[in-house]
Amino acid sequence: MFSFFKLKKEFEQLVPFIEGKIEKQFREIHHIAAYNQAKVLKAFQNHQVTDYHLQSSTGYGYDDLGRETLDRIYADVFQAETALVRPHIVSGTHALAIGLFGLLRPGDELLYLTGDPYDTLEEVIGIAGEGMGSLKEWGISYRSVPLQDGKVNYEEAAKAIHAKTKVVAIQRSRGYEWRPSFSIEEIKEMVDFVKEVKSDVIFFVDNCYGEFTDIVEPTTVGADVIVGSLIKNPGGGLAKTGGYIVGKSRYIKSISYRLTAPGIGSKVGAMHGHSADFYQGFFLAPHFVAEALKGGIFTAALLEHLGYETNPLWTEKRNDIIQAVKFNNKEALITFLQGIQKGSPIDSHVAPVPAQIPGYQSEVIMAAGVFVQGASLELSGDAPIREPYIGYIQGGLTYEHIKWGILTSIEQMVEKGLFKGNFLMKN
Ligand SMILES: *Cc1c(COP(=O)(O)O)cnc(C)c1O
Repeated sequence: MFSFFKLKKEFEQLVPFIEGKIEKQFREIHHIAAYNQAKVLKAFQNHQVTDYHLQSSTGYGYDDLGRETLDRIYADVFQAETALVRPHIVSGTHALAIGLFGLLRPGDELLYLTGDPYDTLEEVIGIAGEGMGSLKEWGISYRSVPLQDGKVNYEEAAKAIHAKTKVVAIQRSRGYEWRPSFSIEEIKEMVDFVKEVKSDVIFFVDNCYGEFTDIVEPTTVGADVIVGSLIKNPGGGLAKTGGYIVGKSRYIKSISYRLTAPGIGSKVGAMHGHSADFYQGFFLAPHFVAEALKGGIFTAALLEHLGYETNPLWTEKRNDIIQAVKFNNKEALITFLQGIQKGSPIDSHVAPVPAQIPGYQSEVIMAAGVFVQGASLELSGDAPIREPYIGYIQGGLTYEHIKWGILTSIEQMVEKGLFKGNFLMKN
């Protein structure tokens, strides 16, 4: 089978060697997937989902039972009170922006506990870009407490929370940072700490890439509002667009007024054709997230073996579906990501190049040979073009595809003479 892609002969021995090593890591992932599958299945059964729910409304979308039931299913699975699951949320950034604008008012302060957030949030907050329409322009101030060795600096955080602090936000995933993602246990510790310092603070989680990587979500351990994108984990590869916001009813109501308009909130919004994908995608998501996690372990194990620094290591517990790899070389990074594209089912014949993308501060290269534009539960890779040239590889709907994709990337590096590792099989 290696001959389909004219891969280096050495892979035929190396791949089974790596897979033998990582096999035991898969047991825990299969357990998490089985648990989450049961949870989602039970929620579908409890809400008596029928064919009717999968047909979606047009126009105002009044009384769309499919939309209302899907909201309840998300709320149940996330052990929260209320949810908004909508195709009208255009991306993860939009979900985060609606959440923050829905909760914060002029004079309030937003505090990020996990260092400055994901690049695209900087313009929302007003710390990058022209500032138009940002939280800052609305008189909402912002602070962040930098991480210390990848952990929350509680001493500084205690000092940073004060009378104006209304929302304390965290980013669960590593995003485009060389740092660990946060476990549910660590998030519980953060929630408990923040509530202890100021009980009326709203604890807000950017949950992008974290869904179904553990058996519970941040809402289970006390987070008030969590948000994410449907073209990542919970869309299960089938959602064509959309986002979700889940949490306490009083906060979700305020956010729903920002999503649509005060008064109409969550009661309107045609699902025009998205319901079936959202339902089926959510049903499949625990499995596809597990495939992506297994692919991440394979990627880490192989690249570590070949001499690269990876984050997380193949042996580490995963709390998101991102695998970061340090290339220390611009050309190697670009070649690796071009290999991901070359190993994809869509647009395998074209090569991505670095470019300026709205919302990002450095040039970015995005490899995404995907069925849904930008969908990153599908195998994809991104990197801001800056030192030390770290590539972020995520997703993959099947473990098997991730394997071929990564091997294609390494083959590309070998061809260009950029490969610095060796193929010897020893630990
Ligand atoms: C993807 C992502 C976002 C932004 O989502 P987009 O859909 O790209 O706008 C925000 N935070 C994290 C951690 C993400 O992974």
